[in-house]
Amino acid sequence: MRFEKGPDHDLVRCEVCGSPNMLHIRAVRVNQLGDTVSIGPAGIEHFDDTTKTHARGSIVEIDFWCEAGHQFTAAFQFHKGQVLHEVRDLPRLPGLGPNEFLWEGELPRE
Ligand SMILES: [Zn+2]
Repeated sequence: MRFEKGPDHDLVRCEVCGSPNMLHIRAVRVNQLGDTVSIGPAGIEHFDDTTKTHARGSIVEIDFWCEAGHQFTAAFQFHKGQVLHEVRDLPRLPGLGPNEFLWEGELPRE
């Protein structure tokens, strides 16, 4: 992952165009031995992901979407005291609406 240094915190840059100002988190998945929980636009989902049985440890994946239509996944995998990291490009996906990524606003007040 690439970051832009900020005064208080770093900004994640799009892996395709490098912009730190158009990026949104679409979903987060945690896969533990194929038992996966996903939090994304559809809410919280639980499913068996047996396609990742080759994993050495639990996998945490974060899907990002850039307003220029770029998508990528940042994946972290635990293994024997080390955290492996890779970035995977996803197909271009332009034109997402505000309800197609994780909540970005303030919590509703009662
Ligand atoms: Zn981009």
